[in-house]
Amino acid sequence: MLAQRLIERKRDGGRLEPGEWRALALAYASGHVPDYQMAAFLMAAFCRGLDRGETAALTEAMLGSGSRLDLSHLTIPRIDKHSTGGVGDKVSIVLAPLIACLGIAVPMMSGRSLGHTGGTLDKLETIPGFRTAMSLAEARLQIDRLGCVLIGQSSEIAPADRKMYALRDATATVESIPLIASSIMSKKLAEGLTGLVLDIKRGSGAFLPELARGIELAELMVQLGADHDCPTVALITAMDRPLGRAVGNSLEVEEAILTLKGEGPADLLEVTYALGAEMLVLGGIAASHDAARRSMEHAISSGKAADRFAEVIEAQGGNPGVVEDPAVLPQADACELFAAPRRGLVARIEPRAIGRGLTALGGGRTQVDDVIEPSVGFVITARVGDWVEAGEPLATIFARDARGVESGRATLRGAITIGDEADLPLPLVSHRVTAAGVRPYSAAGSGPEVGDVATDR
Ligand code: URA
Repeated sequence: MLAQRLIERKRDGGRLEPGEWRALALAYASGHVPDYQMAAFLMAAFCRGLDRGETAALTEAMLGSGSRLDLSHLTIPRIDKHSTGGVGDKVSIVLAPLIACLGIAVPMMSGRSLGHTGGTLDKLETIPGFRTAMSLAEARLQIDRLGCVLIGQSSEIAPADRKMYALRDATATVESIPLIASSIMSKKLAEGLTGLVLDIKRGSGAFLPELARGIELAELMVQLGADHDCPTVALITAMDRPLGRAVGNSLEVEEAILTLKGEGPADLLEVTYALGAEMLVLGGIAASHDAARRSMEHAISSGKAADRFAEVIEAQGGNPGVVEDPAVLPQADACELFAAPRRGLVARIEPRAIGRGLTALGGGRTQVDDVIEPSVGFVITARVGDWVEAGEPLATIFARDARGVESGRATLRGAITIGDEADLPLPLVSHRVTAAGVRPYSAAGSGPEVGDVATDR
């Protein structure tokens, strides 16, 4: 009965009180509200929106529906990074051990691939033996020992969100800024953090492609963090082309390992350093972004970051030998170079098409329970703006068999445009959003306040 009244009120443009959000979230998590009623409610919420107070109340309600990771015994800062997801985004795999070895506890809870975007858990699980399912008690012990854990959202964390997100995915109600903000923040706030850094992607491969919508989401999440005394900083980063060269689960782990050893692609390293600097400054470990960058460079060049990753892998049941020898990762049976069909400039590398192409190869999901093929994907060496000759290799296709190679070729033919002019790529990191406002990004961490963000590139 309760649910029906709330659906009616939302449908008619009304608002719910905090107690009502709490009751609804708990009733849904415990199975007392059926999916059909929650689906109707979510569609009403999607169409009518939630005001700021309702968004805060929903976040609180979903957070309160489960347990929290209690890390209050730690004397070091506890900071996580969350990305809204993209193609080739393996930053979490580099960042977690890198920042942990510099003195910050990183309780990183990640997700799986869905649609055209990849998922950190699927990537990590390509490491032979690596276990991403852990209880909160186990996670806590590992954080005490290594300062870092790389796991999935356990069933103990925000169970109301877990159910609601799956339902939203099936009912076309994901792309609502208040619903996304409360969903992500309810899980992050359950990690017992002292700070949070968000990577909000923009561009054609992002979940919310438009800059103005990305900034709106970032501002709301920063405010929700502040409500819970969790200082939150968001960077707006580019997803108008894949990040790094590798797209595909084991291929991305290999690239992340190379990056931890100082041999990764420049764009991946830049985004990692930008987010890492925010974590180190937020945690009080570095006095400035420059100092933070120097510490990260040293952790990589000294081998400390890669060693920490090997320790984390071992602690989670995986084969740490992968750090020395990535050949222990699953290898594709069929590989083929993809050559430029004509001479000219690489004008576009469309991330959504590449992400969908990965799914067509078997390396992504269209349904939550799809089983993925770990070894398939693309390594795209061409960059937007490169001049190429006809027949010059642009990428390598990794597939299960000859049919997969053919599908990979079709993907790359559609995704990579060679023309006479190249689009100017979006800046890798364009804006920084904090409780003080929205600013154009500079690696030094500040800039003049932005007035009309919608007109900014
Ligand atoms: N990721 C989440 O966890 N929730 C959303 O609503 C969208 C992305």
